[in-house]
Order: sequence, then structure tokens, then C-alpha cells
Amino acid sequence: MRVTTAFNRMLAILGATVATVEFTPTGIVVGLRRRRRKLRCPCGYETSAAYDRSVRRWRHLDLGVCRLLLECEIRRLRCPRCERVRTEEVPWARPGARHTRDFEDVVAWLAQRTDKTTITKLLRTSWESVSGIVGRVVTEHLDTGRLEGLYRIGVDEISYRKGHRYLTVVADHDRSGTVVWAAEGKDHKVLEAFYDELGPDGCAALQAISLDMGSAYEKATSKQVPHVVQCIDPFHVVKAANEAIDKTRRWAWNAERGSNPPMKRPRGRPPKGSPPPPNRPRAIKHTRWALLKDPARLSDAQLEVLHTLRRERSELYRCWQLKEGLRDLYRLRHPRDAPAHLDWWLAWACRSRIPAFVKLSQTIRTNRDRILAAVELGLSNSKLEGLNSKIRLINHRGYGHHSAAAVIAMIYLCCGGITVQLPTER
Ligand SMILES: [Zn+2]
Repeated sequence: MRVTTAFNRMLAILGATVATVEFTPTGIVVGLRRRRRKLRCPCGYETSAAYDRSVRRWRHLDLGVCRLLLECEIRRLRCPRCERVRTEEVPWARPGARHTRDFEDVVAWLAQRTDKTTITKLLRTSWESVSGIVGRVVTEHLDTGRLEGLYRIGVDEISYRKGHRYLTVVADHDRSGTVVWAAEGKDHKVLEAFYDELGPDGCAALQAISLDMGSAYEKATSKQVPHVVQCIDPFHVVKAANEAIDKTRRWAWNAERGSNPPMKRPRGRPPKGSPPPPNRPRAIKHTRWALLKDPARLSDAQLEVLHTLRRERSELYRCWQLKEGLRDLYRLRHPRDAPAHLDWWLAWACRSRIPAFVKLSQTIRTNRDRILAAVELGLSNSKLEGLNSKIRLINHRGYGHHSAAAVIAMIYLCCGGITVQLPTER
């Protein structure tokens, strides 16, 4: 069998045949001959007149340990539709790419699953190439109709980098939290830009939105789509209660430390079997997880901490009761009981004489209707909150250090409902 025939069968390149095979120090260079004579612009326009010609190489998947490069003459054409000179489209690579479609699909498939260092090492490519490839694959696969037919959406801010760098992410509740839109920033203008992009028809079709207790998204929503039911996401309500506990705990810790400093350790080794010196501030510091965690998932030691707090009639135990009382709002059997439950809780928190919870009760009172709407509609951003940890993971895998655009491309790739097919699956 001739070597070109062997490569032809092995590579099975769409729309071209192997004309030459050359072994060079940089790898195997496979020269291709195009089957069709006509030039095709990426926009779809076809012509037979070439503007100019050059030779280009594309990196293909490795052959054993050898790099494999495809080489072909590529032509440019003057496209009346695009009103400029453009490079013709080739079936084996995306426009503007220096890697083949197969290579790029493998990179994107891996990027959904593993860290960047693994990809660059496994495929012997650079970080910049990986970012470029992710961008191209997302542009090709992202559903352009994803902003159509939105009824119930969730919006949230997500920190993507240290130093208060935020993204605003919009997800579709009816497609199990698929991300449909993301942009840099977290003020009202960002969400207004989303409503602008949605258009008047899309805005009119919206029915409900879940958001946080901040004012930015509320402002944009009330201004642009006043008919939409706003719901405060349960996660943010419980988070605010947890923050109130943390504040009280720190305050109690400082108070204890002031009035009752930890005992100085006596010199020398303590006698065997003697109990450790009592340390109240430290004990308070260590109540954190017992107070914040879901009671169903507490360890025995943490349950013991709670029991001790209860026996001591500690303020922190009352904080815990208040938090759980608020969480009960989302565990009610009938949503119709929610208003009475919330009002009961507000009265309790207001009278608690714990400053952090009195303040929280005021915040919740202002947002009462929007909190109850969430219970009634059963809307929660829990999928979006899962997204938060997913984005932390993306950052951790090394995709988040460059720009907001790169992080957004990765969010679309991993959470935008994109399925990448491996070359071996086609
Ligand atoms: Zn064109």
C-alpha cells in the first residue's frame, strides 16, 4: 500500500485527499489536496474567483508520539456579503483556527472535565491556544435561540477573581439552571443590558425572576420589566441569617475575651492526666460549624456543643433557634402557611434583643413580599448556587486567571448546556 493511501484511510479528512507525506523534525507533515474547486466564505457565500493564495498548516491530533500537521493551500476571496476580503472556509478546521476541528474538540471535551495544566501537557499545546479554542468552540456551539422562550429566570452575582471582580449570571429555571447569559460586573446596568438584549417580546414573556436582597438587580428589574414577579432566593435569606449568627458569635467571643482572658499556662509540663485549662473564648470560637451547619448533618461533637449552649442558656443558642425558625419557612408543608410563619418569626426576631437579628428582621420585613413570592412559586437559585462552586472549580483548574471573557467562555462551555462530541464518537 502506498503511504499516501495509508494516511488517507487513517485520517479520513473531510473534503480533501492526502497528496504528500513528509517526515520532518517538527513532525509529520501531510499535504492535502482539496476536492472542491469553489471557494466558500464562512458566511456561506460561494465563488470561484480567488483573491490570493498561501499555504497554511493546522495541528492535528498526534500520531503516536509524533506531531501531525496538515498542510494545504488556502485562498482568500472578496466576499460581497461580508464586504471585505476573507479567508475561505475549510471543512477540517474552524475559521481562523490553527488547529483542526478534531484537535479542538478534544481540547474542549477535556476542558469541561479537567484542569488546564493537564491539557497543555497531554496535548503539548499552550495556555493561550486552549483559551482560543474554548472561545471558538463556544461560539460555534452556543445556542443562539437560548434567549427565546424564557419564563422563569434566576440572576446572581458571582465572584470570579480576588479583588471584587464579579460577573452577573442569568440562568433558566425551566432548563434546570442552564446559564443563558453572563457579563462582567454586578450593578444595575449589567442586568439592564440583559433585558435590552432580550428585547421587548422576550421581556413581556418573562413571568418570574429570583434574585438576591441587594438593590442593583431589583432596580434594573423594576425599571425594565415591572410586571415580573420578583422572588428573593431562599439561599440568600438563610445566608443573611448565618451572617447574623457569625456577627453575634464574634461579639460574644470578644466580650468573653475582654472579661475572661484565657488562663496563662503554668510553667513546665502539666502533670499527666490533668484536664486542659478552661478557655471560654476558644470554646465560643469553636461553636461556628455547630451553629451554621444543617442540624441533620451535625457530628456528635457538634451536637454536644449545641446542647452545652442550650444548658448555659447562651445567646448563641437563641441565635441558632432563630436561624432554624427562619429556615422552617422553606420546609412548610403548605405554602399558604408561609405568611403567618414569617410574621411570627419577624415578631420573635424583633423582640430577641440580639442586635444582629433585630437588624436582620428589619431587612426581611422590607423584603417580606418578595420572600413569600419565592415560597409560593417554589423558585430557588440552588442551581445557581451550585454554579458558584462550579466557577470556583473552573478558577481552581486554571481557567480564571486572565480575563472576564475567558471565564465567561468557560462558564458557557461547562454550564451552558454544550455537548462536545469527541472525534471517536462521531
Ligand atoms: Zn462572507
